[in-house]
Amino acid sequence: MIKNPHSIPVNDIINQLQADHDKGLTTTESQKRLAIYGENDLKHKKKKNSWIILLEQFLDPIIYILGTAMLMAFVFAEWLEGFSVMVVILLTTFIGFFMELQAIRSVEALQRMSQTEANVLRDGNVVRLASRYLVPGDIIQLTQGNVVPADARLIWHQSLAVKESMLTGESDQVEKQLKITPLQTPLTDRTNMLYKGTIVTRGNAKAIITATGDQTAIGQISSLTQEAIQKRTPLERRLNRLSHWLIGLTLIMALLIAISGYIQGKDLVLMIKTGIALAVAAIPEGLPIVATIALAKGMVKLSKKKVIIKKLEAVQTLGETTIICTDKTGTLTENKMTVHKIVFNGKEFDINNWGDTLSQYNLKNNQAFNKIIEVAVLCNNSDTGDTSMNGDSIEIALLNFTKKTGYNSQQIRDQYPEEAEIPFDAEQKIMATLNKINNEYQINVKGALEKVLDSCEYILSKNGIEPLNNRKEWFDKANKIAAEGLRVLAFAYKNTNIKPNMDKLPQELVFLGVIGFIDPPRSDIKEAITTYKNAGINVIMITGDHPDTARKIGEEIGLLSVNDSDQRVIHGKNLVLLDNLTVAEEQEILNAKVFARMIPKQKLDLVDFYQNHHAIVGMIGDGVNDAPALKKADIGIAMGIRGTEAAKEVADVILMDDQFTSTELAIRQGRTIFENIRHFVVYLLSCNLSEIISVAIASITNLPLPLLPLQILFLNLVTDIFPALALGMGKGDPGIMKQPPRDPDIPIITKKLWVSTIIYGISITMCVIGITIYANTVLKLSPEIINNMAFYTLVLAQLLNVFNIPHRSTSFFKNEVTTNPWIWGAIGLSISIMVIAHHTKILQQVLSLVELSSEQFLTVGLFGIGTLILTQIIKRLGGTV
Ligand code: ADP
Ligand code: MG
Repeated sequence: MIKNPHSIPVNDIINQLQADHDKGLTTTESQKRLAIYGENDLKHKKKKNSWIILLEQFLDPIIYILGTAMLMAFVFAEWLEGFSVMVVILLTTFIGFFMELQAIRSVEALQRMSQTEANVLRDGNVVRLASRYLVPGDIIQLTQGNVVPADARLIWHQSLAVKESMLTGESDQVEKQLKITPLQTPLTDRTNMLYKGTIVTRGNAKAIITATGDQTAIGQISSLTQEAIQKRTPLERRLNRLSHWLIGLTLIMALLIAISGYIQGKDLVLMIKTGIALAVAAIPEGLPIVATIALAKGMVKLSKKKVIIKKLEAVQTLGETTIICTDKTGTLTENKMTVHKIVFNGKEFDINNWGDTLSQYNLKNNQAFNKIIEVAVLCNNSDTGDTSMNGDSIEIALLNFTKKTGYNSQQIRDQYPEEAEIPFDAEQKIMATLNKINNEYQINVKGALEKVLDSCEYILSKNGIEPLNNRKEWFDKANKIAAEGLRVLAFAYKNTNIKPNMDKLPQELVFLGVIGFIDPPRSDIKEAITTYKNAGINVIMITGDHPDTARKIGEEIGLLSVNDSDQRVIHGKNLVLLDNLTVAEEQEILNAKVFARMIPKQKLDLVDFYQNHHAIVGMIGDGVNDAPALKKADIGIAMGIRGTEAAKEVADVILMDDQFTSTELAIRQGRTIFENIRHFVVYLLSCNLSEIISVAIASITNLPLPLLPLQILFLNLVTDIFPALALGMGKGDPGIMKQPPRDPDIPIITKKLWVSTIIYGISITMCVIGITIYANTVLKLSPEIINNMAFYTLVLAQLLNVFNIPHRSTSFFKNEVTTNPWIWGAIGLSISIMVIAHHTKILQQVLSLVELSSEQFLTVGLFGIGTLILTQIIKRLGGTV
C-alpha cells in the first residue's frame, strides 16, 4: 500500500505498485497480493468469530439458574442429579450454538451476495469483480452511481464529482481533478484521490487502488469499526425483554412455592430443588434464538427467490409495510422500448408500415428528419454493437429505429466525434452532447419536452429555420401522445462555429420534434396490485415521466380507475410538502396514486410526509439520487440489475431480478415470520405456564408432585423446543395477504393472545391435576406411579397443544399447523425420544420412571386428549383467538 498517494506523481504510484494502466494486474499477481493484503473488507463487516458465538450462549440467565441448580445438587451430594443438569447445560448451549451459528453464517453469506462489485482491469480486460477481491495496484473504472470500492488515486477523469459525506460529513459533492496536492492537504481537499465508500455522482474515471480494507481512510476511522458489535434486531430485543420479565416473575413464584411447600411439611431439599426446577421450567429459553432462526430462515428462503434481505430486522418491518412507492419505467413496465410515433414538420408519423412511409414522404431527404436521426445517434451513450446493445433502453430504441430506417449509427458517430457531454440526470431530465461536424460544432439535445422547449428559440420546419412561436401546439401534441401511454422525448440541435461552453446547457436551440416510445406494462403487475389492495397496502407510482403517460400506464395496471384518475395524479411541480398544509391539501396528497415529473429529491420529501402520517414506507429506487429516499424509507428496496451501487448500498432489500412482484413475496414472508414468532411464543409460554401451575397447586395442596425437577428439564428440552421450532418454520396462513398490515405499535403478544395463552396453560394444568387427583383418590396408586402418569399426561398434552395454535376461524383438521410437515416431524421425534427414555436404564433413573400398566397408559391418553378437546371447545365458543 502507498502512504500519502495524494502528494506523489501518479506515474510514481503506478511504478511503485508495479501496475500497468492499460493492462492492469495479472490474475496471478492479484492473487499474490490478495494473500498479502487480505480481502478488501472493513473489520466490522468481517465474519463473527465462532468462539464468541459459543461463549455468548453461556451469558444467559437460564444458564445461571441451571448452574446454580447444578452446584446445589453437588453440594447435597445428589450426583445423578448434578450430572444430569450438567448434561442439560451442555446440550442447551450446544444446540443454541449450532443453531445460532448456522443462522449467523447464512445471514453473512447473504450479506456477501449483496456486496458491491467493481469494474477492474485484469490481464488487459475490464472485468466485474466483487469489491472484496481488489488489491493495491488494481486499475478500476468508475462511472455515475458507483460506490468507490477502495482508496484510489485518479489517473483519468471526465467531469468527475463524488459525494464524500459518509467520510467527511460534507454533503456537497466534490469536484475531482488530477493534479498532485501538497503533503499537508487535509483529507477533504485531496481532490486527486477517491475514497472507499464514497459515491460517484457524476462523470467517469479511471484510478489506481492505493489502499484496501482496513488500510483505507474509512477503515481507519475507529468509530466505524466499533459497529462490529452485532446489534440484536428490535424483535429479538423485545423477546429478550419479555423473557427477562418472565424470569423475574418466575423466580418470585418459585420462591413462594418452595416456602409454602416447606410450611406444608414437604421435604426442604425437594422443595428447593422444585423451586429451582420451576424457575428453569418457566423460562422460555428458546425465545430469542428461535426468533433469530426464524428470521434467518426467512432470509434464506427469500434469497432463493432472488430477494436479498440485507438486514435481519427488515424482515419484520416488511410485514408492517403500509405503502410501497415504486418507479414506473422498468419496474411496472417492461423497459423494452420501441419507437412508435415520430412528429416533426407539423406531421405525425406512425412507425407501422415504416418502409412505405419513408418512401411515400421521401423522408430520407427531409432535413428535420435527418437531424432527428443525427441527434438520436449522437446524443446517445448506448453501444451500437451488432448483436446486443448495451445501455439505456430509450437510447437503444433510438439506435434500433435508426437501423430500421436504413442508417448506420456507427458511421455517423465516427464521422462526428464527441467533444463534450452533459449527461442525462433525473433532475434536469435532459441530455446534450457537443460533436464536431466537419469544421463546425453541433449541439445535440434530447429530453423532456418542457425542458427542451425552454432552451429553444427556433424550429426547423419545411422552410428551414424559423422562430419558434407555436410552443402551445407542441405541448398539446405531446400530451396527446402521452395520453396513449407513450413515453415522449423531444429533440433539438444547434450548429455553431465557435466551440460553446458545455458546463451549462446552451440556449437558443433549434427545436426538431418529438418521438413517442411504447413501453408496455409488465403482464404480472395487475395481479400484484390487486394482491396489495387486498392486503391493505397502498401502491404509489413516482415517476420522472409525463403525467399523461403515467396515468395511462396506471390505468392499464389497475392502479387507477378510469373514472377518478384525474384527481389521483399529481404533477411534481404542484407538490409542495409544507408543514402548514390544509387538511384538504393533505388529503389530496394522501389520495394520490401517481406522482409525475418528480425529481429525486421530492421522493425524500414524500417519504417524510407519509411517515408523518403514520405510514410504514417501502421505497423502490435505483439511481444515485434515490439513495437518500431509500435510506429514509422504513424499507429501502433497490433493483439488483438496473440499480446503481449507491442505491444497493443503502437499501435494506435488493430485488436481484428487478421484479416488482418480488416485493410481494418479501412482504408475505415478513408477515408470515411475525405470525410464526407469535405462534411459538404463545406455544412456549402456555406450555411453561402449565408446568408452573401444576407444580404450584401440588405443593400448596397435599397432592403428590406431578413433576420432578429433572422431568421438567427434560420436558423443556424435548416437548417444547422441537414443536416450537416447527411452528417457526410454518408456511403461514394462506389468507395472510388478505389482512391489513400489522400495526407496529401493537405488542407481539396482544391482550387476546395473553388470554389464549393462559387458557391453553390452564386447561393443560386441569388435566394434569385431574389425573393426579383421580389416581390419588380413586385409583389410590403409589406416589411414583401417580407422578409418572401426570408426567406422561403433561408430555402428551403439550405436544397436542400445537393444534390449539391456529386461529379459531380455521378448520381444526386443515390449517397451517396440520399441513406443516415440520410439526409432524417434531411430534414424531418427541414421542420417539419418550419411548427411548422409557426403555433406557439411565434415563429411567434420571427421570424416575417406573413400569406402568397398559390401563394406566390408557388413562394418560384419555386425559391428554381430554385437554385438547377441552381447549377446542373453549376456542370454538370464542374464548381464545
Ligand atoms: P422514470 O421515472 O420513468 O424512470 P426518468 O427520470 O427516467 O423517468 O425520465 C424522465 C424523463 O426524462 C422522460 O420522460 C424523458 O422525457 C426524459 N429522459 C429519459 N431518459 C432520457 C435520456 N436517456 N436522455 C434524455 N432524456 C431522457
Ligand atoms: Mg428512468
